[in-house]
Amino acid sequence: MDKVAIKYQVSLENPENHLFSVTCTIQTPDLLGQEVALAKWIPGSYLIRDFSKHLINLQARSENGQALNIWPVSTASWRIEPCASAIIIDYQVYAWDLSVRGAHLDQTHGFFNGTSLFLAVEGQREAHCEVELLASEWTRQNSWKIATTLPSRSVDANGFGRYQANHFWDLIDYPVEMGTYQTLAFEAAGIPHRMTITGQVAIEQVDQKRLIEDLTRICETELSLFSEPYPIDQYLFQVTVTESDYGGLEHLNSTALICSRNDLPYLNDEKRTAGYLQFLELCAHEYFHLWNVKRIQPKAFQYPSLLEPVHTNQLWWFEGITSYYDGQLLYRAGILDRDDYLNQLAIEMTRVYRMPGRFKQSVAESSYLTWTKFYQQDENAPNAIVSYYTKGSLIALALDLRIQAETNGQKSLDTILRYLWQQYGQTATGLEEGEIERICSQVSGVDLTRFFEEALYGTEDIDFERLFAPFDIQFALRPAANIKDLGGKTTSQQSPCNLGANLLQTEHQTLTLTHVWQSQTAALAGLAAGDEIIAINDLKIKTLDALETLLARYQPGDQLRCHFFRRDELMQTQLILTPPVSDRVILTASPTLKTESLLWPIK
Ligand code: ZN
Repeated sequence: MDKVAIKYQVSLENPENHLFSVTCTIQTPDLLGQEVALAKWIPGSYLIRDFSKHLINLQARSENGQALNIWPVSTASWRIEPCASAIIIDYQVYAWDLSVRGAHLDQTHGFFNGTSLFLAVEGQREAHCEVELLASEWTRQNSWKIATTLPSRSVDANGFGRYQANHFWDLIDYPVEMGTYQTLAFEAAGIPHRMTITGQVAIEQVDQKRLIEDLTRICETELSLFSEPYPIDQYLFQVTVTESDYGGLEHLNSTALICSRNDLPYLNDEKRTAGYLQFLELCAHEYFHLWNVKRIQPKAFQYPSLLEPVHTNQLWWFEGITSYYDGQLLYRAGILDRDDYLNQLAIEMTRVYRMPGRFKQSVAESSYLTWTKFYQQDENAPNAIVSYYTKGSLIALALDLRIQAETNGQKSLDTILRYLWQQYGQTATGLEEGEIERICSQVSGVDLTRFFEEALYGTEDIDFERLFAPFDIQFALRPAANIKDLGGKTTSQQSPCNLGANLLQTEHQTLTLTHVWQSQTAALAGLAAGDEIIAINDLKIKTLDALETLLARYQPGDQLRCHFFRRDELMQTQLILTPPVSDRVILTASPTLKTESLLWPIK
């Protein structure tokens, strides 16, 4: 049997204890004492997660079974006493995090990211490695199979067996799903694609034909946008469905997604539901990352130790541009018509215009400080920070409009993306800070120096009224028509006062404030996040609808008595209603605007 430099074996005997058993064999360890480490974070998600907290019973032995000393040298690293032969490390990983970022194991399925399971062998991170997924009594009895795009060496019909990776960073970029998931298979541009669905779903009620058709269109639109050579020879969407989760994480040729089972399309649905459209956007988003971030990437993201945060100003590009395209791709793939797309775009834009924090933080800073700000948002986030996803997508839109307008449609953001794919993605050249800005000006021929200075490092709003004008699209802001108003078109003529706060109905029929907007009614009255409103003008307010009905009868400047609990203390304040703020975006296409317009033509 050939001896691989580093070999991992993963087994599970009793899923009900949520433990993956891992064995790591290091063929030629450091003779001065081998160090190993477990990642503190997972690429694509910028938060120190300290995966080592789930690592249990770490032991080391020599090839002939002699126990070796192993002791921690930091919260995520260990040192093993010097040993002249191969070293074998045994440990278990507690897997009870049902998210796309960690590992999860129970009687129904197993899922893991390599960052949760595989110790990095210091000094040998570049070494070729092998992973053996071992079938157990449990997996055999329950007919479990494996879904991963980790390249296989020799596997059985269910996918158990030996896999390989070029190096450590490769190894951690192929999550593994195991269980009795459903599989949909399709081809996009001749490339085999699969979607596995884990979780309880009445699969016979799912409109599989529609799902496959829509996914095929999206994938083919993206493949043709970047054009050949394609970055993949297979692709896997690993979907977990639950009651109400949402999220995704991009990988080299797969993505792990989590969504609500109601977001899937069902045979009885007359049209695509909002949840389904959001799911398609999520798929389009992660697929777009195949190019933008997995291959075209900041230099700072190449080969990270995963033991320290990495910093870049460029997430506005990697997440913002990707967010801009995920919605637009549904239009370009023929899933949304132009008016629906414009409305979706207005809703996306509203997510920025609703946040006064956009005047306090630039997107460049938001990107650089994502570890402590964006990924650790508190109740004051709307007033304090800007999202590099949403503001980044507005910068993408502004760039696209400017380049298209100033080159008379000869060039667009697509041109820049294709250039980046050819020059940086295909050559695995990392992008230095500031390099993308220079490339945008150079490739488009439009001097964007000042635009970037203002958009990336400033906090002023972008002048969309002016940018949309050449395209016969009118940009405007209006006040919210009701509490649930997300922006875009509305049929309501009314703009009643609101409290300037996000509210939740509690189980005991009161309203709790989750976020309070600065300088609006609730904040001016001294209400804070966590406060529980009991009564307004001495009447109990049980629901959001009841609050809305009440507020509709009052005008700006009117005063209302408010009783509320802060923790367990009953308090009283006077609400003085502030005028509704115009923070919802509405985009209106001129009736003469044709589909062949300069803007985002369908090929
Ligand atoms: Zn993303």
